[in-house]
Amino acid sequence: MRSYLAEFSVISPRSLDEALWALKQRPAPAPIAGGTDLMVLLNAGQLPPGAYLNLHSIPELRRPIEFVNGEACFGALTTYADARRHPEIRKRLPMLCLAAREIGALQIQSRGTWAGNIVNASPAADGVPALMAYDAAVELSSASGVRSVALADFYSGYKQTARRPDELVTAIRIPVPEKEAVQYYRKVGTRKFQAISKVLLAGIMVLGKDRRIKKIRLVYASVMPYTYRARAVEAVLEGRVPDGAAIKAAVAALRSELKPIDDVRSTAAYRLRVACNLLEEFLSASSPSRGEARRG
Ligand SMILES: Cc1cc2nc3c(=O)[nH]c(=O)nc-3n(C[C@H](O)[C@H](O)[C@H](O)COP(=O)(O)OP(=O)(O)OC[C@H]3O[C@@H](n4cnc5c(N)ncnc54)[C@H](O)[C@@H]3O)c2cc1C
Repeated sequence: MRSYLAEFSVISPRSLDEALWALKQRPAPAPIAGGTDLMVLLNAGQLPPGAYLNLHSIPELRRPIEFVNGEACFGALTTYADARRHPEIRKRLPMLCLAAREIGALQIQSRGTWAGNIVNASPAADGVPALMAYDAAVELSSASGVRSVALADFYSGYKQTARRPDELVTAIRIPVPEKEAVQYYRKVGTRKFQAISKVLLAGIMVLGKDRRIKKIRLVYASVMPYTYRARAVEAVLEGRVPDGAAIKAAVAALRSELKPIDDVRSTAAYRLRVACNLLEEFLSASSPSRGEARRG
């Protein structure tokens, strides 16, 4: 049953300063961007009554995607559609386009924001793993200042984030990876599109001239209670050539690192199996000559 609308109020600030001032109130109003997560809760009668902060009339949050000092910068209102149609994103950060096209249908892609996907903190979020694999950082602003948190350190448990109630996500900064980086983004769901993932892996790997792994990021969604970077497996792989022995060692490390969730969409055993298969696929398909994002 729909929530009772009279119990809700919406504040629509005209500037960032006004918004940050409004967030000093206790309880702080909850930001609303595209509303594609919040409106579902409203319709289901699960949105807590109270004050909401509409971000749409804040010009500082509506800036175009920019590339500055080797980083792409998204504003808080940057949508999936904005990223998909941006030629530099398609070329230099292709996993973001792959993720964007996996998210809902065109209506959701035009309305939903990357910042909303981050703060909503669903373990099955499709945008967050690609951002995390690129080492993205979240800019958090409040009336007392601005700080930056690595997305890989943003989550600490199910729906637990580093954001304080008085903070707004005002930007997302994404370092552009090396040209030779091998990128991998694969979502496994019940259907090819418009499905919630059962397991998702976003990976990025840079090999040296000696074919040893200089840098690797492995980020899983829908496996742990929050988007999860498999740091122990990364540590096993760094400095090694991704050959059969390294792949075997990585899969063994993943088996002991992951403690998969078990829910209506899938069992823990299935998730572990598929997580290992995706890792194997990524590592075996990777070679210095293949620099393009692939999707299975
Ligand atoms: C039909 C449908 C299909 C969907 N399919 C997918 C899918 O395939 N994959 C997927 O990952 N998601 C999917 N979603 C979920 C949703 O579209 C995304 O999570 C989206 O990115 C949320 O962004 P939003 O701007 O709409 O967030 P909102 O609903 O406005 O907000 C979400 C949360 O983020 C907070 N928030 C938003 N912006 C800020 C900010 N700047 N600072 C601080 N807090 C903020 C809000 O307070 C709220 O807690 C789907 C939703 C629907 C309705």
